[in-house]
Amino acid sequence: MEGSCNCKEVTFVTSKNIKAILNCHCNLCRKMNGSAFSTYVVVPTDEFSLVSGTLTRVQVSENASKSFCATCGTPIYNENPKYIGLTIIHLGALDNIDDLSPAVDTFCESQLEWIENMRNLTKLEKGIS
Ligand SMILES: [Zn+2]
Ligand SMILES: [Zn+2]
Repeated sequence: MEGSCNCKEVTFVTSKNIKAILNCHCNLCRKMNGSAFSTYVVVPTDEFSLVSGTLTRVQVSENASKSFCATCGTPIYNENPKYIGLTIIHLGALDNIDDLSPAVDTFCESQLEWIENMRNLTKLEKGIS
């Protein structure tokens, strides 16, 4: 699988040896990504290679670091010392994600209530005009 940031300076490759695809509803992911929940694709770290670009790494908490494009800020992956040897790629950093769908919701204790109701939201093909 190939991935990249929005400005294309960062590119990476990873094997298709996916260990998990999951949504995380925890408050830390909500804060560090600014989104209601985050979707991650977990792969072995030794099967992930940065091909180009520069990542900035921040230690977000004792259990999480986040690596993102130093130029455009696109989040690429997280690491967690509880899951040594695994790289937790942000789903949107991968280039072809149509076949990648999450199998599990984690940290549902802090999941936002409206997420259960997303099917019923007004659907627009493009943005609000
Ligand atoms: Zn970038
Ligand atoms: Zn989380």
